[in-house]
Amino acid sequence: RTFEELGIAPEIWRAIQEMGFEQPMPVQEEVIPQLLANTRDIIALAQTGTGKTAAFGLPVIQKTDLDLHAPQTLILCPTRELCLQIAGDLTDFSKYVDDIKILPVYGGSSIESQIKALRRGVHVIVATPGRLIDLINRKTVSLENVRTVVLDEADEMLHMGFTESIDEILSYVPNNRSMLLFSATMPQEIAKITRKYMSNPMEITI
Ligand code: AMP
Repeated sequence: RTFEELGIAPEIWRAIQEMGFEQPMPVQEEVIPQLLANTRDIIALAQTGTGKTAAFGLPVIQKTDLDLHAPQTLILCPTRELCLQIAGDLTDFSKYVDDIKILPVYGGSSIESQIKALRRGVHVIVATPGRLIDLINRKTVSLENVRTVVLDEADEMLHMGFTESIDEILSYVPNNRSMLLFSATMPQEIAKITRKYMSNPMEITI
């Protein structure tokens, strides 16, 4: 199948064509139509390099309501490097989507500039859990309009001790959201999170 057949809009298709994407990768074939239709929560066992960033990134961009100047999608990931990587990829995918604001939020950098960017209005937040909690505690970010949550490299986040932070963050997100969880492995702790936060999830192994 082609990206068009999966439902990807022309302006996004154009940007990824320029990046050299021709055919969807398997994880993209599975995830893109589901996420565009908001049908099911998804657990995907997928390693880095499988194309998972575009699998969630393309539909997230396409579904963004540009007139709503509030975070609608929250992507949580374990490290600053991954945070910047994801935010950069999403920015590339949205080259022809005017005025979409994607903000990476991570520790070890100026919180003031992140607060300023949040005040100007963002649509998509890509965050490491610790810094996001900090911003929530300072009341500089609201998650009440978040409708899609992505947990990327969930097993890594648990290894790094972010379980409680993730719990706290998810308590601020309304219940009528879709959730996607990507992990390279599926330890008990992850199964626990999926039982707690997901309803009847679809499972994909790549
Ligand atoms: P990821 O697993 O998200 O880290 O992606 C791995 C690499 O594959 C990245 O360099 C992407 O830009 C690239 N990529 C993702 N999807 C496609 C695709 N459909 N066709 C060609 N390259 C892709």
